[in-house]
Amino acid sequence: PMKQRLLVVANRLPVSAVRRGEDSWYLEVSAGGLVSALLGVKDVDARWIGWAGVNVPDEVGQRALTKALAEKRCIPVFLDEEIAHQYYNGYCNNILWPLFHYLGLPQEDRLATTRSFQSQFDAYKRANKMFADVVNMHYQEGDVVWCHDYHLMFLPKCLKEYNSKMKVGWFLHTPFPSSEIHRTLPSRSELLRSVLAADIVGFHTYDYARHFVSACTRILGLEGTPEGVEDQGMLTRVAAFPIGIDSDRFKRALELPAVKEHINELTHRFAGRKVMLGVDRLDMIKGIPQKILAFEKFLEENPSWRDKVVLLQIAVPTRTDVPEYQKLTSQVHEIVGRINGRFGTLTAVPIHHLFLPLSREWTVGSFATDGRPLELPLLPLLLSAAFAAVATAVRSFRHCCCCCPQLSLLSPLLSATSIATATADRSLDFHALCALYAVTDVALVTSLRDGMNLVSYEFVACQGSKKGVLILSEFAGAAQSLGAGALLVNPWNITEVAASIGYALNMSPDEREKRHRHNYAHVTTHTAQDWAETFVSELNDTVVEAQLRT
Ligand code: UDP
Repeated sequence: PMKQRLLVVANRLPVSAVRRGEDSWYLEVSAGGLVSALLGVKDVDARWIGWAGVNVPDEVGQRALTKALAEKRCIPVFLDEEIAHQYYNGYCNNILWPLFHYLGLPQEDRLATTRSFQSQFDAYKRANKMFADVVNMHYQEGDVVWCHDYHLMFLPKCLKEYNSKMKVGWFLHTPFPSSEIHRTLPSRSELLRSVLAADIVGFHTYDYARHFVSACTRILGLEGTPEGVEDQGMLTRVAAFPIGIDSDRFKRALELPAVKEHINELTHRFAGRKVMLGVDRLDMIKGIPQKILAFEKFLEENPSWRDKVVLLQIAVPTRTDVPEYQKLTSQVHEIVGRINGRFGTLTAVPIHHLFLPLSREWTVGSFATDGRPLELPLLPLLLSAAFAAVATAVRSFRHCCCCCPQLSLLSPLLSATSIATATADRSLDFHALCALYAVTDVALVTSLRDGMNLVSYEFVACQGSKKGVLILSEFAGAAQSLGAGALLVNPWNITEVAASIGYALNMSPDEREKRHRHNYAHVTTHTAQDWAETFVSELNDTVVEAQLRT
């Protein structure tokens, strides 16, 4: 039988395109969660539609890129620079992102944003329309169209206007805030109505789904039912579909000799000290300053632990051209520097802040969207895992610990490894991350708000032998699924987080084992693949049920 075609529409394609010449492109496929989730879905034939992340103003370039992407089953949407800026940087990242995470706008931006709101929303609608045009061009009867995230809330309506028979689902990867927050958005009703045009609307948690339904009842005056939202006899299904990870990929990585070697190197390096780990994009929602201040409080109150524990904080720069994010970066560097100055000794510092200028998603050389191995010219760049780890660490010292004079001891290393920092292969960094997860005693996730937080899942997947402790913010979607195994905390309560750090470090092996078993069972049985499969089959079922009703 013919497989059903699935058109996955997301702002970004799972491919980075680098122009090599007038009509030649170099493509790098990323192995983000969504790619691996959809690769594994049985009985569907997935294609991707989205923006390639580059501005291609000329037709020759567009044609060449379209052709190159087709081999990876990707279809590009070309947005001109001005629309892309207003839609993506403006409406998506400056308005929807902070609002959905309960952040509000920075004070100085508030009036400016209020004034430019309408033009940004217009650009958002225009951009969504351009996505819809591309979907419509490639749509064939029977296809399933799955729209992703807050970038494309206007898409379901555009698609249904083209063709009311199209099967359309929409999934939100961020939280959906309380209706009281959504109410403040000038475009509140229009956005809700366009999302409701979908056959099914999905969220990570039951709470987000409930918030969405109450926004529809309170703001639009529609009827909420256990199934979803009803408007004049038409039902839009609303449900929770918690995402997962491809846990096997992490378990497989831990079996690789290079990763094992890296684990040994890290174990040796931090011998005699417990390792605590944080891995976050440098985003306001991650509560990084709160986490570091809680760690400081713990050290303050527990002098005997000062030389027995180290916090490795991996920070992945993001939206670095936005002043608010630049401010956060220097704030974090400053706090880390202060704490290291306060508690560091000649031989050890309590916080290693690793500032990783990597891409948003890991890229691996042996991965393609159609499941065939992909030949990328990355292999020659492979360096030893240990070498890259030292390079990364040294680089981070240069960024934030230069205020600690004892670290100048490391300067010979610095020049020796600076070449490695520039060329270290990214797939190696994925392996380095797996090694870090594996040697960690306590992982610290302190998001102020977070749709799900996959880092907590990835940590659990790599802890098969160590059985470390997860300290997890109750404001991360993951708290709903890993709550019984993790120590849940309110990240705003630094006293509570500091106490949890102490509790985690002193936890008995029995309790650790029991908590770990709970989380591990969840992470390995609720995979990204199950998530995608469930969503697609629910979407198909919903459409069938709707047809039966009419
Ligand atoms: N990650 C990455 N590059 C890095 C460090 C981490 O791509 O340098 C990955 C990490 O493995 C995880 C994802 O980024 O899969 C972060 O997902 P999460 O849900 O925790 O947070 P988000 O960044 O999506 O808000």
